[in-house]
Amino acid sequence: MNGADRYAVFGHPVAHSHSPWLHARFAELTGQRIVYEARDVPPGQFDAALADFVAAGGRGLNVTLPHKLAAVAAADGLTARAVRAGAVNTLSVSPEGLLGDNTDGAGLIADLEHNLGLSLAGLAVLVVGAGGAARGVLPVLLDAHPARLAIANRSTAPAAELAARLAAEGPVEALALAAAHGPWDLVINATSASLAGERPALPDDAVDGRSVCYDLVYAAGPMPFLRWAAARGAQRTADGSGMLVEQAAESFSLWRGVVPPTAPVLAELRKRMARARRS
Ligand code: NAP
Repeated sequence: MNGADRYAVFGHPVAHSHSPWLHARFAELTGQRIVYEARDVPPGQFDAALADFVAAGGRGLNVTLPHKLAAVAAADGLTARAVRAGAVNTLSVSPEGLLGDNTDGAGLIADLEHNLGLSLAGLAVLVVGAGGAARGVLPVLLDAHPARLAIANRSTAPAAELAARLAAEGPVEALALAAAHGPWDLVINATSASLAGERPALPDDAVDGRSVCYDLVYAAGPMPFLRWAAARGAQRTADGSGMLVEQAAESFSLWRGVVPPTAPVLAELRKRMARARRS
């Protein structure tokens, strides 16, 4: 597309990223002229690839594993939420330099509150995992004023470190996985266990009929944690496809100054994932 502004996602691996399709749909629906590509950037090559992209006139970048920390170092400035997350998933190129942001937390909250109709204020919330994704979403979850926010991780040290970092901001605590006894109103699986066909080893009473259970991982079929939660009688289960669309929409509106519609794009994405699973 001649004259269109250029965007990309850098990751490794990145071949299965939905981002190029999502941003193309947002652009169609809002009448914006952009091109958006996925670029496989191996570890250690982020800075060189970024310099090439900017020199070629690139306007904005999404950053995914394993480059979210390299993007913090590469940015000339960070938004407050990127500082709190300690990770960058969105870079914007401007005459002042590269601005690093993190849209993961806003994407999760938009999905929970707008798409699933959940109000987090006063809820008991358990986040399982203490990796990059948990780091991105925890500060934003605290902003939504849960009555209690616990972090449980397979290795206990990262959960304790995260809880200590956030202690001044709200009622947050670290728990061992096996000690994460309910009741929890909301259980968020922010681990990558589902990608390996596994689920975190939570005690059975972590989920009951009052619990809404959310897995950040998205897949066309039911995943181990959500299957287990449904078998425990969870009130509702949802995967991370809504968060994926919402965090992408947040990046798109930062870059283009236009908020794209997310509901029709999420419905289309789910159909695409179901078709890909059948083929
Ligand atoms: P990460 O930094 O590699 O962290 C992985 C986390 O998963 C760690 O806490 C790790 O625990 C835990 N874990 C892995 N396997 C486990 C198992 N079998 N049982 C229990 N815990 C296990 O990854 P990340 O960046 O946080 O990403 C996590 C997931 O979130 C990814 O799979 C990604 O697809 C998803 N995500 C989705 C969205 C979205 O838009 N929907 C956005 C961001 C990320 P240890 O510390 O003990 O190793």
